[in-house]
Amino acid sequence: GQPAAPQVAQQRRLIVLTGPTAVGKGTVEARLRQEHPQVWVSVSATTRAPRPGEENGRTYWFMSEDEFAQHQAAGDFLETALVHGLSHYGTPLRPVLEHLAAGVPTILEIDLQGAHRVRRCAKDLGLDVVYVFLAPPTFEDLITRLNERGTENEEQRRRRLETAQVEMDSRSEFDVVIVNDTVEQAADALWQVIAKEYDL
Ligand code: 5GP
Repeated sequence: GQPAAPQVAQQRRLIVLTGPTAVGKGTVEARLRQEHPQVWVSVSATTRAPRPGEENGRTYWFMSEDEFAQHQAAGDFLETALVHGLSHYGTPLRPVLEHLAAGVPTILEIDLQGAHRVRRCAKDLGLDVVYVFLAPPTFEDLITRLNERGTENEEQRRRRLETAQVEMDSRSEFDVVIVNDTVEQAADALWQVIAKEYDL
């Protein structure tokens, strides 16, 4: 089982930011951090290969399938997901609990499966969560972004689009929906959510 969460009276709500592939979660989050450095974004573990410029421990903890499985078996992850049927991703649990306990605005930037898993385990962990869905202005916009990024091959793009179609349908299950018209506006909308939850 999962370790018990520390009992902290003033623990604030965890912000879970999710949305379909290539909607721009990473870009919005980077902008938010630039504007509001007091926000902490969880660094996930992943078994996918680093993209050019990605540094271990900054964007992700890059690891082998074996290493990931060991952490998973040890109960080190808050949630894990096999994203696009290709690579494993997981949120290390302890840093999340520590930042929340310290009153630091804490964000998980995860896929929809991950958000659903958090939904299921949040209560047991004593976590109060705000679920935020970042939506593209249109589905066509999403296809354009995915093609422009050029970091995935055709098969990977096809899988990601399939996932995205399903994901777009689940936006109604979220506490907040932010449309990513511009990075500035979306990052500001996300900040408003955080400011409200953390009295900032
Ligand atoms: P990318 O490989 O493009 O960096 O991320 C692919 C997808 O994995 C994105 O939708 C991202 O939000 C999601 N992701 C990143 N880290 C995690 C994690 O720890 N858990 C889950 N469930 N999804 C994650």
